[in-house]
Amino acid sequence: MNLILLQEADFISPDIVRLSGRRLEHIVNVHRAKPGRQLRVGLLDGNIGYGQITTLADQQVELRVELSKNAPPPPPITLILALPRPKMLKRIIQHVTALGVKKLVLINSYRVEKSYWQTPWLEEEKLFEQCLLGLEQAVDTQMPEILLRKRFKPFVEDELPELCQGSQKLVAHPVGGTACPVDIGEACTLAIGPEGGFIAYEVEKLKEAGFHSVHLGPRILRVETALPVLVSRLFPSY
Ligand code: SAM
Repeated sequence: MNLILLQEADFISPDIVRLSGRRLEHIVNVHRAKPGRQLRVGLLDGNIGYGQITTLADQQVELRVELSKNAPPPPPITLILALPRPKMLKRIIQHVTALGVKKLVLINSYRVEKSYWQTPWLEEEKLFEQCLLGLEQAVDTQMPEILLRKRFKPFVEDELPELCQGSQKLVAHPVGGTACPVDIGEACTLAIGPEGGFIAYEVEKLKEAGFHSVHLGPRILRVETALPVLVSRLFPSY
């Protein structure tokens, strides 16, 4: 937790927050903080700044906060990701959030097992928790939007054209295509496949929607590795 993320409900006065639970534990056990100490805090979907501990007790801590800095600008990317298996989903949501992605669409694909859609980790509250962890890690406050689309073809044909309008459209695919561009300097919609990869039909459908296939060289990477490589290659300065 590189940032203590605050929510409106934490405020007991215009500049004092009262925290308990996971954030209190972190302040006590990791920061080993005492009254007077300043910690980096941020308001969810708001500014970043500092909080000075005013009182610290067993069950709660109070901080006086000043939030004067903007959250870091996000890379202008919309990520379309074939739903990962549940074991990986939590981690990947955290990584996506920490990388600054603000719009994530989890889609079905031929090689996504149907049972993956049943995981409780897709519940709104659970996704929110994983996003919080990603924001705390990256010192960001802007919550990403996550959309779930369980049918590939209707999504690609009916929704994707508007979603990716005006952006560079790329599908990461290890076979064929061209080398993934570097520092593109414009908005991008990027599609990443499932562990087994997109099938030829899906790549074709994405191409019909204006997507261009890009690769990262001969090494086939796991989704959680390909993701940060692609994002930082496309947007190195974010
Ligand atoms: N056997 C699968 C295939 O050939 O497509 C491998 C899929 S890979 C584990 C999962 C996803 O990560 C891919 O669908 C792609 O989006 C991305 N990926 C992994 N390595 C890549 C590479 N070298 N170039 C482009 N994309 C890659």
